[in-house]
Amino acid sequence: MGCGGVARFWREIPQRYNLIANRCNLCNKTFFPPKEACRNCRRKSIGKMKDLQLNGKGKIITYTIIHTAPENFEKQIPYIIAIIELEEGPRITSQIVDCDIDKVKIGMKVEQTFRKINEDGYTGAIYYGYKFKPLKWNLIKL
Ligand SMILES: [Zn+2]
Repeated sequence: MGCGGVARFWREIPQRYNLIANRCNLCNKTFFPPKEACRNCRRKSIGKMKDLQLNGKGKIITYTIIHTAPENFEKQIPYIIAIIELEEGPRITSQIVDCDIDKVKIGMKVEQTFRKINEDGYTGAIYYGYKFKPLKWNLIKL
């Protein structure tokens, strides 16, 4: 299981409110997070990248159950971190919520949801961002 990607995710927790990607007009490859130039087309693609709002649906490629959490996340353990392939193509790492840890499966369809990421007890600040939850039909089948 790809633990390296998970660790990297926690070092740079994205405080993003929307899943904005961009797409190369030359080869149609989609990038998330957005890139200034396409990896395939390189300099030719500069100025030809178009923003794209992702629809927030995808499927789980792999996942890890987290039993030890970084500071301020202890209350949430155990929880699921998954690599999700979005319908538009890019892969992202996100926490899976509203799912029992023994019910998560590779290939499970998930959708974006907007959740509290962390609460800073010192300043009272609350951080929000995207997480993913199983699409309803998964739950019916399980
Ligand atoms: Zn391209």
